[in-house]
Amino acid sequence: MRSVVPVFRRAEQYHDNVALTDQHGEHTYSQIYRFSGHLARLMQDVLGRDRVQERVAFLCPNDVSYVIAQWGTWMAGHIAVPLCPKHPHPQLEYVVKDSQASAIITTSDLAHKIKPILSGQQVIVLEEYFYKQSPVSKENEDSPDASPESIGDESSTAQWYGLDNEFYSLSDAMILYTSGTTGPPKGVVLSHKNVASQTSCLIQAWRWTSSDSILHCLPLHHTHGIVNALLCPLHVGARVVMLPEFSASKVWSHLLSLDTPVMSRVNLFMAVPTIYAKLIEEYEDKLVKNTRMIEYVKAVCMQNIRLMVSGSAALPVPILDRWKAITGHTLLERYGMTEIGMALSNPLKGTRIPGCVGTPLPGVEVRIAKFIPGKEEYEVLCAGNNQGTKVFTDGEAGELLVRGPNVFKEYWNKPEATKKEFTHDKWFRTGDTAQYIDGAYKILGRTSVDIIKSGGFKISALDVEQHLLDHPHITEVAVVGLPDITWGQKVAAVIVWQKKEPLDLVKLRNWARERMPHYQVPSVAITISEPLPRNNMGKVNKKQIVMDFFPDSMN
Ligand code: ATP
Ligand code: MG
Repeated sequence: MRSVVPVFRRAEQYHDNVALTDQHGEHTYSQIYRFSGHLARLMQDVLGRDRVQERVAFLCPNDVSYVIAQWGTWMAGHIAVPLCPKHPHPQLEYVVKDSQASAIITTSDLAHKIKPILSGQQVIVLEEYFYKQSPVSKENEDSPDASPESIGDESSTAQWYGLDNEFYSLSDAMILYTSGTTGPPKGVVLSHKNVASQTSCLIQAWRWTSSDSILHCLPLHHTHGIVNALLCPLHVGARVVMLPEFSASKVWSHLLSLDTPVMSRVNLFMAVPTIYAKLIEEYEDKLVKNTRMIEYVKAVCMQNIRLMVSGSAALPVPILDRWKAITGHTLLERYGMTEIGMALSNPLKGTRIPGCVGTPLPGVEVRIAKFIPGKEEYEVLCAGNNQGTKVFTDGEAGELLVRGPNVFKEYWNKPEATKKEFTHDKWFRTGDTAQYIDGAYKILGRTSVDIIKSGGFKISALDVEQHLLDHPHITEVAVVGLPDITWGQKVAAVIVWQKKEPLDLVKLRNWARERMPHYQVPSVAITISEPLPRNNMGKVNKKQIVMDFFPDSMN
């Protein structure tokens, strides 16, 4: 078995390169390594020297404290459970309880969020870049801070630093919770091997190098922000310029290198579609005042940035087109899940097809398959990997199955759910419906909520949304299927309508008939003026949409 080299161990070779720039300043690889080592030792004191693989939750801001908490947890051999500072108490409590965390790492600013949800966990409060550290247990809330000097002492870290790569090859790294789009979030156990394979395939496909510098403005409790935008750069010795949270004006300042030091210049950016929509809004409302500015934005983006990525939800083609017009960049859309990291990606070089998510990443095997109920097995419609895709039934849609070292080990404490999501030969059922057409994979949506069965047709809600977004007065739309006596289901849309006059459904249907097959045209539409309700990752919960906007259909 190939041993796994965890990310922090690579830091040794990058020494004084800057790993992270945040609101506090610059942090080198060796500084982060040293402070993490100290934290690991502290954790051993708090949790016991012989214990490993305890769940350690951390509630840290998007800055260096997060990386130190993550590395420290791994150095001590424990399992990282990142929490989201923006989550309300019940959600934080759910994750801490469900993961059976033994300890929680936090900062003094966020400690108040932890207090109400404690149920016997040890708490480690990291103070101001860990110049001071105070293990605070419930019984020992007044314990004095360690002195800053002791933390700088390299020899003090040597006592604990003993776990070898063999340990990491066999142990678990993280429990990440799914976004909770279709139900209560599930704890996804990712081994160090999973994490290594999820990062290495992206490093290879997107050609990460130590000269890269990524602008990071994503939540750090989700695979997108953790694996794609943080661990990939840290694996190769690149720089992460981390914002405390997303701010459209700050992102633009960084992308255009306005008021930012030369060392904080970035050449990569990753975001979810709603972030791109907000950046476009900011560009149109505030940033661009004249034609020279339009040219400037495009020229700087083309010159400075080498890659801009979108994912976590379907990228509406109007956003892709507008972004290209503004920055000159065709967003690279990719597809992934908490359970598998990234599986499909448009190419770094070569044609990126709008509405498609490209082809399998290195090491990832995929299948599109149709479940045959009586036989309890799948008919494979197409099978692909990084080398190519074999098509058995042309263009037919089916369930996307994934296999490979990237695929998670299990759902935490949910053996039945784990069993249900894997086939007997270890293919993971993603629950998404996909299609392979014209040399690329297309995600049609979640089989449970986005595939609408109406009058014998299988309609992709995502397809209908893409079409409706072409309408000049529709800025956002969520399409769902509602029960219907005649058709089985009917297509319904919740539309963010940008005009004063109310929407005329007959007119909209006539407009839609010219653009999409008749069976896709919504027969019901509700308009709202507020943005669609979305979770932290910019995802729309379709079950919630039905409950909120079509409560009668629930009877
Ligand atoms: P839960 O599993 O709790 O319901 P979730 O599935 O939204 O939440 P994640 O693991 O964050 O949790 O999201 C993975 C899902 O996001 C995929 O299964 C897919 O439906 C969707 N997704 C990710 N990238 C894309 C994309 N490029 N296009 C369309 N859908 C995408
Ligand atoms: Mg899911």
